[in-house]
Amino acid sequence: MMRVPRRCNSALMTNRWFVTALAVVLLTAAGVRQGHALDLVRDGRARATIVLPAERNPMTEQAAEYLNRYVERITGTKLSVVREGANQAQTGSCVFLGDTQAGRAVGLDPATLKWDGFRWKVKSGNLYIAGRDIKFPNQAADSYIACRGTLMGVFRLLEEFGGVRWFMPTPKGELVPVSTRFAVPDTLDHKEEPAFAYITPGFDRLGHWSRANGFRVAINLKINSGHSWDEALHNWDDPEELYAEDPTLFAVIGGKRRLGRKLDPEKRITDAWAIQRGITRSGNMLCTSHPDYVPMNVAYFSRLFDEGYDWAEFGASDGFHRCECAKCEAMDHVDEIAGNKRAFWTEADWDVDAMHEGVPSAERLWVPFLEIAKQLYAKYPDKRIMPIAYSPTLIPSQKVKAWPPNVVMELASQSEKYFKAYANVADKTAYVYWWGSAQPAGLSLRMGPHRTARNVRYLVEHGVKGLYVCGGTELFGLEGPAYYVFAKLAWDPNRDVEKVLDEYYAGVYRAAAAPMKQFFALIEERVPIGMKQAGTRYAKKQEHVYGYYPAAYPPEVRKRLWGLLHEAKAAVTSDEYAANWLALTERQFRFADIVTRVFEHYRDWLKDKSPAARQAAEAALAEHRAFLEELTALKADRAYLENWFPQWNKYVRLAPTGGNLNGQLNNKKPFNGKF
Ligand SMILES: [Zn+2]
Repeated sequence: MMRVPRRCNSALMTNRWFVTALAVVLLTAAGVRQGHALDLVRDGRARATIVLPAERNPMTEQAAEYLNRYVERITGTKLSVVREGANQAQTGSCVFLGDTQAGRAVGLDPATLKWDGFRWKVKSGNLYIAGRDIKFPNQAADSYIACRGTLMGVFRLLEEFGGVRWFMPTPKGELVPVSTRFAVPDTLDHKEEPAFAYITPGFDRLGHWSRANGFRVAINLKINSGHSWDEALHNWDDPEELYAEDPTLFAVIGGKRRLGRKLDPEKRITDAWAIQRGITRSGNMLCTSHPDYVPMNVAYFSRLFDEGYDWAEFGASDGFHRCECAKCEAMDHVDEIAGNKRAFWTEADWDVDAMHEGVPSAERLWVPFLEIAKQLYAKYPDKRIMPIAYSPTLIPSQKVKAWPPNVVMELASQSEKYFKAYANVADKTAYVYWWGSAQPAGLSLRMGPHRTARNVRYLVEHGVKGLYVCGGTELFGLEGPAYYVFAKLAWDPNRDVEKVLDEYYAGVYRAAAAPMKQFFALIEERVPIGMKQAGTRYAKKQEHVYGYYPAAYPPEVRKRLWGLLHEAKAAVTSDEYAANWLALTERQFRFADIVTRVFEHYRDWLKDKSPAARQAAEAALAEHRAFLEELTALKADRAYLENWFPQWNKYVRLAPTGGNLNGQLNNKKPFNGKF
């Protein structure tokens, strides 16, 4: 016999149903249309009790906490929480969370759901929200790496029936409508399963906003930022001692076996972090024909799998250099000079064909990797190893024709050709670079919402199971709509993009929604135009910004964009909320406007060296300095920043350089003070 919380859905239910039925009849008689609904709160009073599974599960408990926190914010009322089987009196309906016996009794089995998917069901006057809730053994309870299916069910419930929205990752970025009632339809029976198992690493670290919008890692994944050699080497032995005893595990570069760079925590924060992880030397290049290369990697990944990880990323050190020893050289014809010439990595933009026939495949990496994968598959058949198809391994192996089923390919380039070239790998994930400040657009809009939606759908259609998202989250004023569309479509690619956007503009800019919709549509239109001028070759020369800004934002476009911003401002003069979000957008657009004018005037000056052009360029540069000073001054107003400037620290840190690599300004004329 199932044990259900006392008085939840048995004898008392008949009674309650009778009362409800009567109420409906009475209300209908009075001419008030009353939909059939299950109330959690009505007239400001609790009408339901949250019921947790008898066995404690920290992920399900978090779902209860969030549900109660938001129900209270909406209605001012909290629901009481009991554990299944406890002898406590209930109020009204039950909201069964997670894997309960009552849920099982009505046919809910969370184990059948994909990743952190969930199911909602209303049955006999009770609501069930059940998803897979797994705290991974090697992760803290509050880690972004966890399977929180029930919590996702709670967030989606709050969105659908409470009208709650998480537009921005700040306390002011949440929309929580107040009501005396919180109810769900009593016909509810609905299942959701996400398109991706994970979206990492920046979007998943922004608190409630991340969780509520589905930015999380729902598998126990070890990400090594694409590069695992340093970790594997340090796990094997101390690199310096190893090198002193027998340096042959290290690659021959320029005729000599070389150790990786010694870390300097004083100079680089990333070095300090690496030292905390036990790394002393980084960027180690290895001799992959060395007899220890395979066992070293097998040992490291075995350790990760023993710790509890289910998936782990594999990759050679970045800035790859091949080993010049005779044995390695006999394995292929890889030449990283070809890499420097961008034969491996010509194009970050997948619209352009990025497959390079005739470029040699790095068999020295692929062939030993096959051995590593096979040995791991024999030891851990349920665990996955994820090599990154990037830089030397962008081109697939010609020698390895079939991969064991534990291999998941992480594609750094996602053109159709790559999907075809890696058709012999069952599962794929992607490493995407949609919003990085190393792009020519620097700190102006890099990718808008419509392109985001197309990209997400394209990857879903190609069976991509997870996303490593490099860059992004520092530009909410200009990219907020794209981030929001990303969140919604990455969870459910069938969402209507225009509806999602309308909801965003209305929720954030309120009375200024119409001009802001036009503003964002226009600015998004400009990105490909700027990119075309910047040159499509990625990292060809670091001069892209010169081409980008003036082409993306010519005077007539800037005039239209400013016109829309002014119209928007006029619409929200008495609305502090919308005015503050508008101010963020205006500030971030102003930066692009100033940078564009600096380049325009500088070009004029280059043409005729007229004092007037020089003066105009100097004036725009002064505006640029004033902008940066203004940003620095904002640091005094912490309350403003914490509420109305999401990721301000990232933005403020990036603004002086304008970005890096192709997006960097301060190393270019005239931003470097030279004409
Ligand atoms: Zn070698």
